[in-house]
Amino acid sequence: MIVDAHVHAGEYYRHYSARFAEQMTATTELAPEELDAPEAKLLAEMDAAGVDRAFLLAFDVARVEGFSVPNDFVAELCARHPDRLTGFASVDAGTPGAAARLREAVTGLGLRGLKTAPCYLRMSPADRRWYDVYETALDLGIPVLMHTGYTPSRQADPRFFSPLLVEQVARDFPGLTVILAHLGTPWTRPCVDLLTRHPNLHADLSVFASYQPLATVAEALAHARDSGVLDRILWATDFPFASMTRATARMRQLTEDPEAWPLGSAPLSAHEHDALMGGTAARLLPLAAPRATQAPSPRR
Ligand SMILES: [Zn+2]
Repeated sequence: MIVDAHVHAGEYYRHYSARFAEQMTATTELAPEELDAPEAKLLAEMDAAGVDRAFLLAFDVARVEGFSVPNDFVAELCARHPDRLTGFASVDAGTPGAAARLREAVTGLGLRGLKTAPCYLRMSPADRRWYDVYETALDLGIPVLMHTGYTPSRQADPRFFSPLLVEQVARDFPGLTVILAHLGTPWTRPCVDLLTRHPNLHADLSVFASYQPLATVAEALAHARDSGVLDRILWATDFPFASMTRATARMRQLTEDPEAWPLGSAPLSAHEHDALMGGTAARLLPLAAPRATQAPSPRR
């Protein structure tokens, strides 16, 4: 079971602003238009990479960036492909009614998680305005995936890039399941250390595992393994910002290539690889079995 735990829904001409798309792709090999990820392209990419399920994210940054990928758009895609897609709502705590919008997205639209973009919204993840949103997520029993780390968006506020800002949230909401996106790149080591201090924290490997040298990825995973938190790390891509096929191949390489690993660290075992690639995501967000394969009840 392979789960990509960080995938963006969105269509270039319909959602993203040209300014945002240009800034986000300026230092990559992607053209801005390649952020276009309509349904057919997304499913084809998943099929090509052998990805069974994606956590598909809404993205509410309208107040600052002037656009959003709305909750109902994501919910509609997920409703069409319940066996492949699990939807995450997105709300901006800097606008009134955020907690109510989250509740409606989960209870009304069927979304199963929350994605937040604090630095894009020029807010700390520990800003008190998020707290009734976190309270609501806790009440609904859903995980919160927070952007942490660098972003090339020039509208974002770099004071709020650091994953260490989440420490206060972890302390104040010990029962809340939090996933730190991008392993807090470039603060990957402090991010792993943060996980060791707070058992409710998790992290995803999106962008980091796709673009950093393989030895850098291996070093971070070795540190996570040595710290006892490897089972709280989730493989992810950030598609369409990174290719799923290339990212799955790189993860396979980390099971095979001892040269990529620091001295004294073994490559990923099959068990570690399977947990990273989907086992941990499935444990975090128990995924409904595809309807077609559900066995009929043996009784009656
Ligand atoms: Zn992302």
